[in-house]
Amino acid sequence: MKFEERCLTFPDVTKNRADLPHVVILGGGFGGLYAARQLRKAPVRVTLVDRHNHHLFQPLLYQVATATLSPSEIAAPLRGILGRHRIQVLLAEATGIDLEHKRLLLADGELSYDFLIVATGATHSYFGHDEWARHAMGLKTIEDAVEIRRRVLLAFEMAERESDPDVRRALMTFVIIGAGPTGVELAGALAEISRNSLPGEFQNIDPNQARILLIEGLGHVLPSYPEALSVRARKALERLGVEVMTGARVTSIDATGVFMGSEHLPARTVLWAAGVSASPVARSLGAPMDRAGRVMVSPELTVPGRTDVFVVGDLSFVKQGDGTSVPGVAPAAMQEGKHAALSILRQIQGQPMMPFRYWDRGTYAVIGRGQAVGVAFRRVQQSGVAAWFAWLFIHITFLIGFRSKLAVLLNWAYSYLTFGRSARIITGAVPRLDKLEERFHPTVLPAPQEHQSLPAPSEPHPSPR
Ligand SMILES: Cc1cc2nc3c(=O)[nH]c(=O)nc-3n(C[C@H](O)[C@H](O)[C@H](O)COP(=O)(O)OP(=O)(O)OC[C@H]3O[C@@H](n4cnc5c(N)ncnc54)[C@H](O)[C@@H]3O)c2cc1C
Repeated sequence: MKFEERCLTFPDVTKNRADLPHVVILGGGFGGLYAARQLRKAPVRVTLVDRHNHHLFQPLLYQVATATLSPSEIAAPLRGILGRHRIQVLLAEATGIDLEHKRLLLADGELSYDFLIVATGATHSYFGHDEWARHAMGLKTIEDAVEIRRRVLLAFEMAERESDPDVRRALMTFVIIGAGPTGVELAGALAEISRNSLPGEFQNIDPNQARILLIEGLGHVLPSYPEALSVRARKALERLGVEVMTGARVTSIDATGVFMGSEHLPARTVLWAAGVSASPVARSLGAPMDRAGRVMVSPELTVPGRTDVFVVGDLSFVKQGDGTSVPGVAPAAMQEGKHAALSILRQIQGQPMMPFRYWDRGTYAVIGRGQAVGVAFRRVQQSGVAAWFAWLFIHITFLIGFRSKLAVLLNWAYSYLTFGRSARIITGAVPRLDKLEERFHPTVLPAPQEHQSLPAPSEPHPSPR
């Protein structure tokens, strides 16, 4: 039995509307969610498919990873957001798209569509070195954030019990690779934890001594920002005690730390914020892609040569009038999702589709408490407290759900006033210290020449933002 037929045996909001055009939205991130919302009152049947049951507010993931917020404060169940709007929500993993027969292929079935909006976003790119993923976690999902939080908090706990100074130093060294907004945010937050939140709570270590290193292959932190803001961001990070290394090539990463040519940086916690590539499901579209695997869509956001399949958000490569591509940020995904939905409605009404235009209201990166940089409306450069308030306002406005907004505001206020981190929970098994020790001991370090032939991680992949 086909997947859709099986679905029809469930209480199905779509069954009395069977003759309406069926719009399938793949992905309940910013692109998919805003497309679905746009269609909620339209004369179409809408099915949204996602492999997670929740919409995730990725811009605040680093705050879960650094113990300020809890997962439930930045994620909301898709069924709760959309279910009441007569939108079918299905929890399923998509594996491909059969354009010829207009079917979305799922790991355990299939779903036919009249129109399809693909919004599966992006994933980490390790520049061909997927083996680095084990040692250098990226930040993309709730699971990633909880695991990073675990590793960071565990590192301090283990350092407290460790007597070997080399191992203790490695435990208290945190390396973040990639100084785009996500890397900068992580570095700033880790510096604040070690300098402001933890001191006084340990007897054998001084968390102030933790080393936070931010490594960037290009010449500046925040390479996509105006140079003046990059310089200010770097100074703000250094004031927090972050060691910033620009123009630095990471050549290998393993359980002992990071290699830059023959230089070895022993570190127990390495985080990856250096590059993203588009979600692999797009390959089955057979459309042209850029180097990062993003689908090069038409100005109307459709797969070239088709009018029934749209690609939006981080998965799409949309060329703007000035030759640059629309950035991989949440507002772009939202606007593209809405635009695709409206284009479907225009087609149903027999009207021509319109080209997409991105309206850039601003991009911000937060560095720490009361410290951010940003550019509003492509022109107005902001830094310091003003930028921080703008960042705060934007993030609270777009956070889904009144309860979440309130909880996040209260946690921020608590954290701002007390330097406290309310979500310092370590989950999962605690590693054995005696197993760790030999990892960082100099006698077992791999010889540097084993790593010399690896490429630099500064290829023109889009950074996480
Ligand atoms: C750590 C981090 C911080 C960020 N900070 C900011 C910020 O401050 N400001 C900003 O504007 N942008 C920020 N971004 C970027 C922003 O989050 C993305 O641009 C945006 O989420 C893209 O939306 P999307 O809908 O294309 O993809 P996503 O939001 O990634 O959603 C994709 C959805 O598709 C689902 N999916 C994927 N593959 C499948 C499959 N095979 N089957 C079923 N479902 C699937 C996923 O579960 C997910 O729900 C940040 C991103 C990250 C990772």
